[in-house]
Amino acid sequence: MKKHNFYAGPSILSQYTIGQTAEAIKDFAGTGLSILEVSHRSKEFVAVMDEAQALVKELLDVPEGYHVLFLGGGASLQFAMVPMNLMRGRAGYLDTGTWASNAIKEAKLFGEADVLASSKDANYTFYPTGYEVPADLDYLHITTNNTIYGTELRTDPDVPVPLVADMSSDIFSRPVDVSKYDVIYAGAQKNLGPAGVTLVIVKEDALGKVDRAIPTMLDYRTHIKKGSMFNTPPVLPVYSSLMTLRYYKEMGGVKALEALDLKKAGMLYDAIDSSRIFVGTARPDSRSIMNVTFVMKPEYAELEKAFIDFASQRGIVGIKGHRSVGGFRASLYNALPAESVEALVQAMKDFESQH
Ligand SMILES: *Cc1c(COP(=O)(O)O)cnc(C)c1O
Repeated sequence: MKKHNFYAGPSILSQYTIGQTAEAIKDFAGTGLSILEVSHRSKEFVAVMDEAQALVKELLDVPEGYHVLFLGGGASLQFAMVPMNLMRGRAGYLDTGTWASNAIKEAKLFGEADVLASSKDANYTFYPTGYEVPADLDYLHITTNNTIYGTELRTDPDVPVPLVADMSSDIFSRPVDVSKYDVIYAGAQKNLGPAGVTLVIVKEDALGKVDRAIPTMLDYRTHIKKGSMFNTPPVLPVYSSLMTLRYYKEMGGVKALEALDLKKAGMLYDAIDSSRIFVGTARPDSRSIMNVTFVMKPEYAELEKAFIDFASQRGIVGIKGHRSVGGFRASLYNALPAESVEALVQAMKDFESQH
């Protein structure tokens, strides 16, 4: 039986993506070779890379002057590549969760990383607003969706400096005004493809302004010049990502995906808010539509494990909260069908009526 997959990452991919990838593993584009054994310089794979870049540009309406890259190293490598390539002296960071703190830690290796706002004291349960952004910062780094804590910023803030965003867990879930950003990056394994490739959108004009020596592989300009083919790219993850991008286009693009995501999240938050035993952990104005975090009310806390077992008997997997916060987390990425959310909501109601 196909499971209802609520894992936070690696996470559910569309059936289309998985089916097409399975086909390409057997025979890639009629080459008589598997995608696993084909040259990345073959014309068939170069076409894959070109189409993937073009579809990212189309889906996110990327303006002229930006490049779309598919790199290795995960979002975590971007925590260092961003300051290495962009930080002259001082940048601002929002400390909105574990991934944001990891980005801050790396940035401090390259200059002054000022934390302009933090929700750490409130266990990252809200997305800070009302902070001042000094106009002389090299950039402001934000994490648009805090995968572990279930908070999200669904707008592109107006600030007097360029933005850099880690959009690993909510990219392609809304239209983005890319022109406000110098860099947008996202590890693939949340809303795009299998682990192993990282999507980076970088503004050409933002580069070449730092004095430090940058190792070749960590310099965005290397990958721009070579169209993400300086070295062997993660061929299979790029192929699968292209299948997801085609699927997103077929679905009607990011506006249509956002409407579905809002509907799915609304269903689950309604169930949480009307429950006698479950309660949400993120402040309502900061709630993520990708990762929904909730717990049992204190008087029912000992039932947590029982609910996870109850749900798993119905094929619902991946709802255990991150080990650093506990409770539950249901990740509702683009590929998750509404029926899976309905199944979870029904399980919550049935469990509640038994306790
Ligand atoms: C998962 C995640 C990361 C880490 O991604 P890796 O590709 O494993 O390095 C970073 N930021 C956010 C917001 C994430 O959700």
